[in-house]
Amino acid sequence: AEYMREALTNPGQGYYTRRGGVGGDFVTAPEVSQLPGEVIGLWCLSEWMAAGRPAAMQLVELGPGTGALTDDILRVFKQLASLLSKCDLSIHLVEVSPKLSETQAQMLTGGKVQSNPEDEAAYMKGISKTGIPVYWYRGIQDVPQGYSFYIAHEFLDALPIHKFQRTEKGWREVLVDIDPEAPDQLRFVLSPSSTPATENFIQPEETRDHVEVCPEAGVLIQRLASRIEKDGGAALIADYGHDGTKTDTFRGFRNHKLHDVLKAPGTADLTADVDFSYLRKMAQGKIATLGPIKQREFLKNMGVDLRMQVLLQNSRDSATREQLLHSYDMLMNPKKMGDRFHFFALLPHHRLTPPHKEHNLQSKSPLPPVAGFGELLLK
Ligand code: SAH
Repeated sequence: AEYMREALTNPGQGYYTRRGGVGGDFVTAPEVSQLPGEVIGLWCLSEWMAAGRPAAMQLVELGPGTGALTDDILRVFKQLASLLSKCDLSIHLVEVSPKLSETQAQMLTGGKVQSNPEDEAAYMKGISKTGIPVYWYRGIQDVPQGYSFYIAHEFLDALPIHKFQRTEKGWREVLVDIDPEAPDQLRFVLSPSSTPATENFIQPEETRDHVEVCPEAGVLIQRLASRIEKDGGAALIADYGHDGTKTDTFRGFRNHKLHDVLKAPGTADLTADVDFSYLRKMAQGKIATLGPIKQREFLKNMGVDLRMQVLLQNSRDSATREQLLHSYDMLMNPKKMGDRFHFFALLPHHRLTPPHKEHNLQSKSPLPPVAGFGELLLK
C-alpha cells in the first residue's frame, strides 16, 4: 500500500502529481463520451427532486481527472436552469495533483482561478463558465458539510491496496523489497510474520488465498456514509471491480499497455479492482447501498439510447456520427466497458424504505424509484 501511494501521489515524483496520466496512459468513459456526465447530471437532479428540492446542493467530485465529467454535468444543470433557479449550487473538487487541478481549472473556469491561502480548507477557487463557484481540496474531510452529491468515477481504483497471501503459518502481507541480486530492481516478498495489516484488515470469514484490501476506500465510505446519513444526498461510485471474488488485480498501465508494477515507479498508472462487497461492509448499515450494476445496464436504464438517437439526428456529418457510434460501443459493449464497469450508490435509508407508518399515512405518493438501478419507465 505504501509503495502504491508513493508511486501515485508522492509530491515530487508521483504518477498523478507529476504526469497527470488521464488520456495519455489510459482512457476513461468521460473522456470518450459526453453521455456518462449527462446521465450522472440527470441522476443527481432526479434524486434532488425526490428529496423535495433542497435549497442548496453541493456537487462533489473525487479525483476529477481532466474535469470532463463535471463539465458535462454542469451543461445539463445549465440546460435545466429553470428547475434549479432557486437552488444554491456549488462545485467541490477533491484533487491531489497540482497538474490535474490546473487542467480542471482550465476546463471548468477557462483558467480564471485564484489560489486561496487564507482559506485553509480550499487550496484554489474560481467561478465556472456557467457562473457556479468551484472549490478545490486535498481531501474529503476539507469539503464543507451539507446536502451533497459525491461522484467518484475511476477514483477508488487509484487508492492504495494492501495485498495478502494465505500460507501454512497464517496470513502474510505481500511487500515490496529491493532485489539483492539486482539492486536497481524491486521484487515482491512475503512478510516473515503477521503484520498490523494482516491482523486488522482480513475478514475472519475470508475464503480466498490471496486478498487485496483498500482501507483508504473503507475510510472514505465511512466518511461519506456519516455525511449522507446526517445531511442527505447520495454518492455515486463508478469503477471496474468485483463483489469480493477476485484475488490478484494489481496492475500498471503505461501508453495504454500493461506495465510491470515494480518497474520505474511514478511513470505508470497503478490500479486495482474495487471490491464492492468491502465498500458495502464499510457502510456499516448507516446508509443504504444500491448495486453494483453493470455500466451498460445503468446507462440503458437512464435512457441513454434515446439520448443517443437525438445526438445522431442532430449531427450533420458522417464523421461525427461515426465518432458517436464508436464511443457508444466503447461504453456499452459487454467486451469493452459495458460489463467491466459498475455503478454503486450510497443513499440515506429513508430514500428506499418509507419512514414510520404514521408518517407514511400523510404522504399519499409512494417513494419514486432511484433512477438507473431499475428499468426506466416512461409514463
Ligand atoms: N475521474 C476521472 C479521472 C480518474 S484518474 C475520470 O474518470 O476520467 C484518478 C483521479 O484521482 C486523478 O484526478 C488523480 O489525480 C486523482 N487522485 C488519485 N489519488 C488521489 C487521492 N489520494 N486523493 C485525491 N485525488 C486523487
